[in-house]
Amino acid sequence: MKKPNVVVLGAGYGGLMTVTRLQKMIGVNEASITLVNKHDYHYESTWLHEAAAGTLHHERVRYAIADVIDQSKVKFIQDTVEKINLEEKQVLLQNHEPLTYDYLVVALGFESETFGIKGLKEYAFSIANVNAARQIREHIEYQFATYSTEEEKRDERLTIVVGGAGFTGIEFLGELVNRVPELCREYDVDPNRVRIICVEAAPTVLPGFDPELVEYAVNVLEKKGVEFKIGTAIKECTPEGIIVSKDDQVEEIKAGTVVWAAGVRGSRVIDESGFEAMRGRVKVDPFLRAPGHEDVFVVGDCALIINEETNRPYPPTAQIAMQQGEVCAKNLAVLIRGQGELQPFKPDLKGTVCSLGHDDAIGVVFGKKIWGTKASVMKKVIDNRALYLIGGPTLVAKKGKFKLL
Ligand code: FAD
Repeated sequence: MKKPNVVVLGAGYGGLMTVTRLQKMIGVNEASITLVNKHDYHYESTWLHEAAAGTLHHERVRYAIADVIDQSKVKFIQDTVEKINLEEKQVLLQNHEPLTYDYLVVALGFESETFGIKGLKEYAFSIANVNAARQIREHIEYQFATYSTEEEKRDERLTIVVGGAGFTGIEFLGELVNRVPELCREYDVDPNRVRIICVEAAPTVLPGFDPELVEYAVNVLEKKGVEFKIGTAIKECTPEGIIVSKDDQVEEIKAGTVVWAAGVRGSRVIDESGFEAMRGRVKVDPFLRAPGHEDVFVVGDCALIINEETNRPYPPTAQIAMQQGEVCAKNLAVLIRGQGELQPFKPDLKGTVCSLGHDDAIGVVFGKKIWGTKASVMKKVIDNRALYLIGGPTLVAKKGKFKLL
């Protein structure tokens, strides 16, 4: 009998979890597994804010895909997916011949969503991948270097605007407030000239988080110099900075750096391939399959599942992407063997921890509120756990975070 072709698109948390679990479950002769990813490395998206601020080297954030896949069972293709042809069961790639699949897993992750705000795409940075994070770090450093050498000082060069006080925005600010004093020392810049401004359209920082913990986070960041502009919407981004409005008052904030951290969507490949989707996210069936396409699984940030308790979609997280990868691998094994029953996906949320730099954090874990050192240590345990689940103790030893404070 012909071996089924399993094609997995994307080597992020969802895709790699699917592949590393599936390679343990099935034998070489049971299926052909192909993994496609833009780069030959995986990056920890949840650490990108550290690389963007320059508090963690970008090499620490990524590792070779070859280190975690079993190459006797999985063929890796480094390429960019352009489109999925659902009728023909084919994946179109930029530089290789189309791939044909019997079962497909779409795990192409997130992209920045600018909601049509003028100028954001052109003039703001976003923490979307390793190279985008490196660009932010380099850009901020360049602003400090230029300021220190220019004769007519332009203080706005040293203004950094972060758009969004959600999870990514706050974690980035937490790193930035630690990095800026270092930059000031390195480039002989007076710290009083630097402004770090966070602009958030919602009426609160970290919407949905426990209010006491939010207050803790805001106090920590304000003490380290962050100015919060809450209930304030970014109307436009320009080469000079941003234009914001609050209660019909319009204000221009001149800034050398604008980082947009207020929105993500699923991959554009989802829209271009004709899936029924909302902002690149497919509302999957209980077994993680795209409606009307029983041979196509969607996991991670490209999948949308509804939390029945709140009747709202679960936020896209690495935690959910990895759990989905595990269930997806089990379901693929059932289909490949034609034995057993498909397992429905139920998120098992253990909690959320939001870092405020390398030595502080806030979170709710197993229903308990934590903050400060305890939360910060917990964050590193979570980071190391993600490495362990995909690459075992060897990967933890290579890339893990052991300096707990
Ligand atoms: P990703 O991890 O984004 O992986 C997608 C992969 O597909 C990447 O390797 C990418 O290169 C590849 N790819 C994309 N397009 C193509 C293409 N066309 N062709 C080929 N390859 C392609 N979540 C948490 O649970 N906890 C946190 O603390 C947390 N912190 C975060 C901090 C930051 C700064 C950010 C940005 C996100 C954070 N998240 C966190 C969210 C989390 O990172 C995402 O939910 C998670 O990465 C989604 O996993 P995924 O497998 O869907 O996609």
